Amino acid sequence: MFDFHCHSVFSDGELIPAEIWRRVKVLGYTAIAITDHADHSNFEFIIGNLLKIKKAFEGLTPRLIAGVELTHVPPEFIPELIKESRKAGAEIVVVHGETIVEPVAEGTNLSAILGGADILAHPGLIKEEEVKLAAEKGVFLEISGRKGHSFTNGHVVNLAKKYGANLVINSDAHSPSDLLTKDLAFKIALGAGLTSEEVKKIWEIAKKRFL
Ligand SMILES: [Zn+2]
Ligand SMILES: [Zn+2]
Repeated sequence: MFDFHCHSVFSDGELIPAEIWRRVKVLGYTAIAITDHADHSNFEFIIGNLLKIKKAFEGLTPRLIAGVELTHVPPEFIPELIKESRKAGAEIVVVHGETIVEPVAEGTNLSAILGGADILAHPGLIKEEEVKLAAEKGVFLEISGRKGHSFTNGHVVNLAKKYGANLVINSDAHSPSDLLTKDLAFKIALGAGLTSEEVKKIWEIAKKRFL
């Protein structure tokens, strides 16, 4: 089990990275990406701090992955900030997509895909052309375990299947109780319209790409 999107105290999460790590270890995870909310003001702070604990925990299981979630960044700045984040050492760049429960700027999904984000989180009512483009560019679309963001999981799965886009199941945890067990992640994916075989395949593909 692994998860490539959660939050620590370096943005609005409740736990320090060491506790996230400990809690997912108990849940049997092999890897966890911490991807705090970032914009131009704090991406270096987040990445720098996450790389410190990553280095300290090197060789331990679960593997810690240092990331960011670019959040409410104006769409025209997203491609550049993805590059800057990678330059600062981010191993995974998530973009906070156009969830229907927040006023995320229109054009964010497209910018994230064109900018080559690793994962477009909770893409809401993403358009068909954007899903097609995500498939071409290898951008993973997220099935979200988070309340509200998860309302459109079925839509995302439906279009991803149609156009062959890759999917990833993430908790987007902010609190300890948000962390997913493997069993719950599996059920969320089934509830979004995937078969058991498809969920297993998704996990295989995500593992190959990010681990
Ligand atoms: Zn988000
Ligand atoms: Zn998030």
